[in-house]
Amino acid sequence: MDFDTIVIGAGVVGLAVAEAAARSGRSVVVLERHGAFGTETSSRNSQVIHAGMYYPAGSLKARLCVPGNRSLYAWCARHAVDHARVGKYIVATSPEEEPALDGILARARENGVDRLERVTAAEIAREEPNVRATAALWSPNTGIVDAHQLMASLVAEARAHGADFAFQHRVSGIARESDGYAVTAIDPQGEPATITARSVINSAGLDCDTVAALAGLDDPELRLTYVKGSYFRVRRRGFVRHLIYPVPPPKLAGLGVHVTLELDGAVRLGPDVEVLPDRRLAYQVDEARAVAFHQAASRYLPDLRLDEVYPDQSGIRPKLTPSHGGVPDFVIREESARGLPGLVNLIGIESPGLTCALEIGALVETLLP
Ligand SMILES: Cc1cc2nc3c(=O)[nH]c(=O)nc-3n(C[C@H](O)[C@H](O)[C@H](O)COP(=O)(O)OP(=O)(O)OC[C@H]3O[C@@H](n4cnc5c(N)ncnc54)[C@H](O)[C@@H]3O)c2cc1C
Repeated sequence: MDFDTIVIGAGVVGLAVAEAAARSGRSVVVLERHGAFGTETSSRNSQVIHAGMYYPAGSLKARLCVPGNRSLYAWCARHAVDHARVGKYIVATSPEEEPALDGILARARENGVDRLERVTAAEIAREEPNVRATAALWSPNTGIVDAHQLMASLVAEARAHGADFAFQHRVSGIARESDGYAVTAIDPQGEPATITARSVINSAGLDCDTVAALAGLDDPELRLTYVKGSYFRVRRRGFVRHLIYPVPPPKLAGLGVHVTLELDGAVRLGPDVEVLPDRRLAYQVDEARAVAFHQAASRYLPDLRLDEVYPDQSGIRPKLTPSHGGVPDFVIREESARGLPGLVNLIGIESPGLTCALEIGALVETLLP
C-alpha cells in the first residue's frame, strides 16, 4: 500500500481529518481536484463558530457542535487563527415568536450548551440600538473565525505530521482490493494516476454522493440536493455589534436571513435558501434578491435602507433529504456493514460543519484501521 489513508477533498473537513490521521502516526495523502485548499463551501459560508443550540438532541450535529465550539476556540488560540467571540442574539419580533425562544433554550440545555440566556427588550435596545425585538436569547459563546487561516493552519499541522497533498487531482475511481483500496485520480496532465491505501475518507463536500457512488454505494438516501445561500452586504459599518438571528424557520431549512459580522467589522445579511434543481454550481448572486433580503431583515432592523444593501457572495449547502422528513443530520459512516471496510463517508456536511470540523476529524480517526 502507498499510504495508510487517502483523504478525498481539501475543504475544512477533509483537512481536519487529514491532520488528525497524520497526527496519530498514519501516512496520509489528500487528493483535491482544485489547485488549492478550501475553494468551495469552506470559503463560502458565514464563518460563524456556532454554539449548538438548534440541532435535535442526540443528533451528530448537536453532539459534534457543542464540543466543536470549544475545541475550535482552543485551536484558534493555539495556532494564532484570527477569531472573535462576538456573541449572538436570537430575536423575537413579536410576542407570538417568543415561545420559539423557550423551545430553543430548552433544546440548548438538552444539548449541553452553556451560558445561553433569555434577555429583555430593554437590554437588547441598550446593546443594539438598531435592532427591534420584544425579547431575545443571548449566546455569548457564538463567534466568528477566519476560515482561510483556519484551513491554512490545518494544512501546516498536517504537513508537519508528514501528510502529503496532491492538488489538481480529481478522483475518478475507487476500487476495493484485498487489503484496502486503489483510488484513481486524473492528474494535472489529464492522465490517470492510481494510489493505494488501507482506508479512504470521502470528504468531497458537494460531490460526496457521487464519490460514494464511485465506490459502489449509490444509495438514494445519500443523494444530495444543492441549496444555495446568497449574501448581501450592508454599507453602514457598526450597524450592529453582535450577530443577530431571527427565530429560525421550521425544519431548519436555513436559520432565517440573519446578520453576521466579519472580523474587520463589515456587516452581512444572509444566507437565504434557494434550491438548485439541476445541481449546477451557480454562485452568482441575483441583485433582484435585495428587496427580499431587505424585507426579511427589516423585521428586526427597521432603520435598514434598501439602498445600503448590495450583493456579496453565495455558498451551496450539500443537503440530504431524510426519509423521516425531519431535520437532516450529518452522515458519518464507516462502511464495513456494506462490504467496504476502511471506507468512511462524510455526507451532507452542511452547517455547522465548519464549527464541527475538528471534532469530525477526531471522530473519523477512531473509525480508521
Ligand atoms: C451558505 C453557507 C453558510 C454556512 N455557514 C456556516 C457557519 O457559519 N458555520 C459553520 O460551522 N458552518 C457553516 N456552513 C457549513 C460549512 O461551510 C461546511 O460544513 C464546510 O465548509 C464543509 O467542508 P467540507 O470540507 O466538507 O466541504 P468543501 O469545503 O466543499 O470541500 C470539499 C472538497 O472536495 C473536493 N472534491 C470534490 N469532489 C472531488 C473529487 N472527485 N476529487 C477530488 N476532490 C474533490 C472539492 O473540490 C472541495 O475542495 C455553511 C455552509 C453554507 C453553504
